[in-house]
Amino acid sequence: MSTLRFEALKETFRRQAVHIEEPARRSELFGTNVFNEHTMRQFLNKGAHQDVMDAIKSGKKISRDVAEHISSGMKEWAISKGVTHYTHWFQPLTGATAEKHDAFFETIGDGLAIEKFGGGALVQQEPDASSFPSGGIRNTFEARGYTAWDPTSPAFIWGTTLCIPTIFVSYTGEALDYKTPLLRALQTIDHAATDVAKYFDKNVTKVNATLGWEQEYFLIDSALASTRPDLNLAGRTLLGHSPAKGQQLDDHYFGSIPSRVLSYMRDLEIECMKLGIPVKTRHNEVAPNQFELAPIFEETNLAVDHNSLIMDIMTKVAEKHYFKVLFHEKPFANINGSGKHNNWSLSTDTGTNLLAPGSTPMKNLQFLTFFINTIKAVYDNEELLRAAIASASNDHRLGANEAPPAILSVFIGSQLTEVLDQLEKVTDGKLSPQEKTELKLNVVGKIPEILLDNTDRNRTSSFAFTGNKFEFRAVGSTANCANPMTVLNTIVAKQLKEFKVEVDKLIKEDKMKKDDAIFNTLREYIKQSKKIRFEGDGYGETWEKEAKKRGLSNNRTTPQALKAQVSEKTVKLFEELKVMNKVEIEARHEIELEDYAMRIQIEGRILGDIARNHIIPTAVRYQNILIENVEGLKHIYEKDFKKHSEEQLHIIEAISAHVAKINTGVKDMIEARKVANKIEDVEKRAFAYCDDVKPYFDVIRYHCDKLELLVDDELWPLTKYRELLFTR
Ligand code: ADP
Ligand code: MG
Repeated sequence: MSTLRFEALKETFRRQAVHIEEPARRSELFGTNVFNEHTMRQFLNKGAHQDVMDAIKSGKKISRDVAEHISSGMKEWAISKGVTHYTHWFQPLTGATAEKHDAFFETIGDGLAIEKFGGGALVQQEPDASSFPSGGIRNTFEARGYTAWDPTSPAFIWGTTLCIPTIFVSYTGEALDYKTPLLRALQTIDHAATDVAKYFDKNVTKVNATLGWEQEYFLIDSALASTRPDLNLAGRTLLGHSPAKGQQLDDHYFGSIPSRVLSYMRDLEIECMKLGIPVKTRHNEVAPNQFELAPIFEETNLAVDHNSLIMDIMTKVAEKHYFKVLFHEKPFANINGSGKHNNWSLSTDTGTNLLAPGSTPMKNLQFLTFFINTIKAVYDNEELLRAAIASASNDHRLGANEAPPAILSVFIGSQLTEVLDQLEKVTDGKLSPQEKTELKLNVVGKIPEILLDNTDRNRTSSFAFTGNKFEFRAVGSTANCANPMTVLNTIVAKQLKEFKVEVDKLIKEDKMKKDDAIFNTLREYIKQSKKIRFEGDGYGETWEKEAKKRGLSNNRTTPQALKAQVSEKTVKLFEELKVMNKVEIEARHEIELEDYAMRIQIEGRILGDIARNHIIPTAVRYQNILIENVEGLKHIYEKDFKKHSEEQLHIIEAISAHVAKINTGVKDMIEARKVANKIEDVEKRAFAYCDDVKPYFDVIRYHCDKLELLVDDELWPLTKYRELLFTR
């Protein structure tokens, strides 16, 4: 065994669960490190507190004077908790979170110093952030980007730093981050959904999109993980033979949580409590060493921030427990990968979940309105929704025989299918009183009862209705939820606006009653969007063929999927709803393509290095041992030696064959990379990496994995799957 692998395993065996002091009640810890309503009451005057609340509720601007007062309140609070620094905390398009700490400390001359944090520093900063991806925006406009306070997401303390959630925009206002378009999309859906919700309840003045994400991840002992260059640099294994036992016994799913892991989870949950992240659920997932964490759902902007924050905190807390967290969608071949289900709904300021069936026919008509409009929005924009979850790492799940497929479809369950089938039969035009009673009482009125025992949940669907929310399951585990949430909320907003126009027209021009107008419009939508609904097995080949017949897209790779991001239809949609302009859209497209090509390039380099500098030399060394053995046998048996060394000779030949394949594979891959690198056009380059470079990964890996089974375990340099996945 290589010294590195041996020492790492020895280290791992010694490790014990870290002791975690559990507070008597976690609820008492909740939000203690957040500048929330409770804290604001303590540290701000009434007016300032009210201004922040108004900013959260209706987007009201906060004046400079008030900001001055707020910053000083924040500072007092932070200092009382031992904080020394502050930072604007933002989400640039790298996918990670960004921060640049400044001390409160300032000198005031004469050798004196004070703690200072003014309103200016709270509201706006100009980090020297020229190295973040901008897709050329800051070159085209102004070579500056600045961060601006987002009062709708509360400031929080991490360690000894006060973190202020901000947006990140160019000098001329173009979004350079994930949060800015999300906030715009949330405003759009608020207005569109509020207008429609008013059909059913005049008191509604605001609708919040809600998000409850479920984060899947792997935990690997850090000593073992650090022995693998691929895990270290790419976050996934690029080679490694499957262990004798994987997940086939299903004994990990919901199994008892290993003690070291449980201790990590408890530590993490306690940190989350302090930060106001309402984590609730923890469990083992399907694959060995795979786990899941889920909070109670929140307003989408906050939920997105909390997910970005938690990914960072998970990594930090893991260090204390000697774990490495793998967020990659497919860290290990042949066992399940990770996703991040995005549970989504719409909720009014009157306390109604618009996607929850109610107890009266009217409430259910409201439910059906939002339910059917969402399905229609997904149908009309399935390619854009697919583009929103495209990434090099998520390609390993979508369209690669892994849950869910690259085809977007909506699952609603057999009972709701029946309801929609009946609604589809509604007569054209005004309904007779008899028809109306029949419809309201027997179809619409019965929805909550039938949903109660609607348990057939389809795990293979990419977009499923689960009782009172939709669950977008195709989002990748590394993704920032902002991107898919921006798209989903924008397309539903657009759809609801159209719905409103059509219903109002029927009421006004055709003199229809409101109910009739709604039923008539929904009926048409049911017909128009039928093709996106699919209740069967989403993994099967039959579905692939069927989906093709229905005209649904099946974009298996990122460069292909991203095309929809910049189509004329998309630009029109985003511009019309003021979520992004053409420059912003194209910049994002360029950044994502660039990111894709770079990731494949990096993986190619790592694989080439491991194959040539680790695997081939090891194989040759073992081959030499065999050759020596054969030489020895020759010495003993002389002429008869062949009989005694036949199998050794086979292995010697097999090793040579694999080594040859690996070496030429690497050589050809490098050539393909050289060609790709010369391509100026970023989209063409991404396609070249996808179609010409990436296929070599499989060839090289195949032969390396074969060698793993042939070569002496004592010599093998890389920590094996069975060690990575089953030691903890
Ligand atoms: P699964 O069976 O897919 O694991 P769970 O029931 O564990 O689903 O997860 C449900 C998730 O849905 C939780 O994260 C929860 O916060 C979220 N959720 C529940 N209601 C809503 C809602 N109205 N809006 C958004 N998310 C919701
Ligand atoms: Mg789920």
